[in-house]
Amino acid sequence: MFLRLASALAAISIAAPALAQEVNLYSYRQPELLKPLTDAFTEETGIKVNVAFLNKGLVERLKAEGRRSPADLIFTVDISRLAAAVEAGVTQPVESPALSANVPAAFHDPEGHWWGLTTRARIVYASKDRVDPAEVTTYEDLADPKWQGRICTRSGTHPYTVALVAAVIHHHGEEEAKTWLQGVKGNLARKPQGNDRAQVKAIWAGECDISLGNTYYMGKMLEDTEQQDWANSVNVLFPTFENAGTHVNISGVAMTASAPNRDNALKMMEFLTTGKAQEVYAEANYEYPIAPGSEAIDLVKNWGSFEADDTNLMDLAALREAALRLVEEVDFDG
Ligand code: FE
Repeated sequence: MFLRLASALAAISIAAPALAQEVNLYSYRQPELLKPLTDAFTEETGIKVNVAFLNKGLVERLKAEGRRSPADLIFTVDISRLAAAVEAGVTQPVESPALSANVPAAFHDPEGHWWGLTTRARIVYASKDRVDPAEVTTYEDLADPKWQGRICTRSGTHPYTVALVAAVIHHHGEEEAKTWLQGVKGNLARKPQGNDRAQVKAIWAGECDISLGNTYYMGKMLEDTEQQDWANSVNVLFPTFENAGTHVNISGVAMTASAPNRDNALKMMEFLTTGKAQEVYAEANYEYPIAPGSEAIDLVKNWGSFEADDTNLMDLAALREAALRLVEEVDFDG
């Protein structure tokens, strides 16, 4: 009897993987952003999704867990965080025709360690009253003395600023980038402080005329009764580099080096990169989907259209340290 039960259990456990299909995510992104996607994925595939939300220490946790980590996929924003995970050795390269078809070359690691899902542009918020939209042209122009005492921005050491400075280095070399950064510093209305929304508030309050910020904050401010007035006092303007498009950054996904549910994880990556899934993910945070043929929601589209700089973001990640050094050399926050 016991033996028969044991063999029955053995038969069940052989069948078990098919019954207990799952995939485990570690995410820096908030639960409400992921929920619509994980629900849709489970509905389509029957694969259960378990999510651990983290505020910090994602890479450290993966390193500490090593090969025993339950995590299959990591979700985060910003190329600096994705590149840091790759450098730490906690990711593995992934290739598939579906991923390549859905994610433009600039927005995935050439070696396949991370794949972008949505973009956000780093743009100029400009006072409706005091700035003619035609005045805002290029990132290079932000160093022009015509902006003296008129620009507000967050800290030079913030990843968003560092990525932009890295892009300036990529397009112009370190020396010109330094001159540019000094020029921008010379045009600041106040020392760098606060987040992207705080700069728009400062424009609304008349402290400065333009600021640098990510596009999705326009949507976030419009959601908030206090911040609506700030949002309505500015235009969203899309500068470009002199010889390239508008600076963007991404949200992305990477497979962990130890992924215990590799097949399910790949299935989820392929699902997430479909235009439809990207649109759902983008809508939740007023971002841009990147799959061919996919579209942002109307509110986001109404801010204007733009060509994204097609520099591979891994090239910018490689210039991060140089960018931070420039920020310190010109004492940007001082
Ligand atoms: Fe942000």
